[in-house]
Amino acid sequence: MANIINGKEISAAIRAEIAEQTKEMTSRGITPGLAVVIVGEDPASKVYVRNKKRACEEVGFLSEEYALPEETTQEELLALVDRLNKDEKIHGILVQLPLPKHLDSELIIANIDPKKDVDAFHSFNVGRIMIGDYDFLPCTPAGVMELLSRSGIEVSGKECVVVGRSNIVGKPQAMLLLHANGTVTICHSRTKDLASVCRRADILVVAIGKADFITGDMVKPGAVVIDVGMNRREDGKLTGDVDFATVEPVASYITPVPGGVGPMTITMLLKNTLKAAQLQGK
Ligand code: NDP
Repeated sequence: MANIINGKEISAAIRAEIAEQTKEMTSRGITPGLAVVIVGEDPASKVYVRNKKRACEEVGFLSEEYALPEETTQEELLALVDRLNKDEKIHGILVQLPLPKHLDSELIIANIDPKKDVDAFHSFNVGRIMIGDYDFLPCTPAGVMELLSRSGIEVSGKECVVVGRSNIVGKPQAMLLLHANGTVTICHSRTKDLASVCRRADILVVAIGKADFITGDMVKPGAVVIDVGMNRREDGKLTGDVDFATVEPVASYITPVPGGVGPMTITMLLKNTLKAAQLQGK
């Protein structure tokens, strides 16, 4: 029987710490401000944006939402980013991805001031993460590291396997585990004999977007299993990339879906925004 890592509880504890620090900052005249920009009508993105706004308000941040129509042009979006870059009330800017196809996401992100890039997607911040000298970490991998450390799980010297190599989860996750002195292997769709690589892992982080893909026979007894995946089943239920029913009896620690990594992502966004406000307030 594995210990269940409760992302909701850990997230609530971190949000309480952030609210406390926000109160103190606000009393000194600086209220952390986050601007969230959404273009178009993607229902999932709208839910994320609503949740981010609510989370900001709960910890006492200023939160601004810019909901732009689907037909917004590149020039219009760049003009908004430029205005937010210059707005002293706004310390963090988040452009909700994916953007409609006619907009160049990379160009938009490249135009966010790196000091306000609280998603840590700007290539300047990505480079700093590689070097290990950073102000912001991408929210989901940072959330995973918090889950590990607040559950008392030591990474140093451990065999860590990350399944998935996306720029927003897999690659930065591998880098953060490496910074924590893990011995890291990254797997992807061309990895040969994925099961045997996964079975080497003391810490297995899965981010592939395939429901219940990692099964108990792919996991070393006693491993820590972190499930980043968020997939909708046909019945509408949310499920991870890890088959909880067969992996939980084998693992020592496991994150559930929902209630594991998910709640940490917005919490890390709040943490980055607070840090941005602290740095810009200096
Ligand atoms: P991407 O689709 O960008 O990347 C998926 C990765 O998984 C790719 O590197 C791909 O390999 C790899 N992959 C796909 N199939 C296999 C396979 N059969 N075997 C091994 N590797 C495979 O996804 P994201 O990283 O954006 O997201 C991954 C999951 O995490 C999704 O379910 C997403 O919803 C979830 N997510 C959850 C968040 C949260 O807050 N909890 C935040 C962000 C994402 P290749 O590169 O070779 O194609």
